[in-house]
Amino acid sequence: TIYLDFNATTPIDERVLQEMNDVYRNNFGNAGSRTHVYGQMANKLVEKSRREIALLLQVDSNEVIFTSGATESNNLTLLGLAEWGLENGRTHIISSQIEHKSILEPLELLSKKGFEIELVPGNKSGRIDSNEIIRRVRSDTLLVSMMHANNETGIIQPVAEVGDFLRETPTYFHIDAAQTFGKLVEELQLIHYDFLSVSAHKIFGPQGIGALVARRKRFQFPPIQPLMLGGGQEFGLRPGTVPVALVAGFGKASILAHQEYNARKISTQQIRESIISQLSEIPHLINGDMQFGLSSTLNVSFPGIDSEALMLTLEQDLALSNGSACTSKEYKPSHVLLSMGFDEHTAHSAIRLSWGYATNEVNLEPLIAFVKDFTN
Ligand code: PLP
Repeated sequence: TIYLDFNATTPIDERVLQEMNDVYRNNFGNAGSRTHVYGQMANKLVEKSRREIALLLQVDSNEVIFTSGATESNNLTLLGLAEWGLENGRTHIISSQIEHKSILEPLELLSKKGFEIELVPGNKSGRIDSNEIIRRVRSDTLLVSMMHANNETGIIQPVAEVGDFLRETPTYFHIDAAQTFGKLVEELQLIHYDFLSVSAHKIFGPQGIGALVARRKRFQFPPIQPLMLGGGQEFGLRPGTVPVALVAGFGKASILAHQEYNARKISTQQIRESIISQLSEIPHLINGDMQFGLSSTLNVSFPGIDSEALMLTLEQDLALSNGSACTSKEYKPSHVLLSMGFDEHTAHSAIRLSWGYATNEVNLEPLIAFVKDFTN
């Protein structure tokens, strides 16, 4: 079965696994135990990884807060800012309809707590119009939260423009970079933001580890509260024993992404060209404007075909998806495609292909045959 669901998660890199194995065997200490060498060694390793991730993003290492992944980082930003927002009369939040559920659901909760939430729709190209965000910013806008690239379409959002505008305002800016961290390396180094959510398992690192990057001003973090209590770890913002092996694996995956990102980009572009050329044999629509797309994702509709039937029939040959992993069991048309203005039929006939540099040749013959059979 050819794995084409890299946006859900990636296979772990052998070099990352080796690093983690070594930590589990030889460096099992609690990074919080500073009274003996076991803890000190573990702590050294955690700080080394923190520096590696900071270097990839060109931030200070004391701005990197380890979490369990992008979901938690998104929650920590949105819910963590709430109390300060309420206390300071800053209760307006702007985001978009095409965000991941780990943004949309916390926003729903905040709306029940008295926040005014505005969600900008996507357009046919798969993008959020930056002007639609900017023109909504007011003096009581606490936060703008946008994803960098959409997980279903791979379309890159105009976060740079929004960041440039917000730089001059008191509104905080959060970017969910789960799909671009370690991929759009130079872009992320230049964009202005206050908060950035990243995850290890989208870049060949382990599942269950990620970070919230929170930019400090005059050494101070923005006014976020931790979601859990019970220890002073991670600058008091994320209590709990730091998982040293996961953190080390995250660091290693980040270094590799840093060193290899150009080569990876070229190889994913080649796969994209091969996929596009194979698809040209059958009727299909590419959803979203490809000029803004990541080189490792395509969202494609096959008119008249039910994506569920297609995926189940081809299950043995191709591992495909029709949305985000967490919601794909629900058989609902994608909220992202609907927000982009597609009708339910087109949304129902859409699948997502996503791949990575480790993907060898992609032979779509079974898919081509299925669609040909169906349309004949
Ligand atoms: N945000 C986006 C855009 C994603 O694609 C994902 C991945 O599923 C997440 C957030 C959640 O990331 P994690 O699995 O690290 O919690």
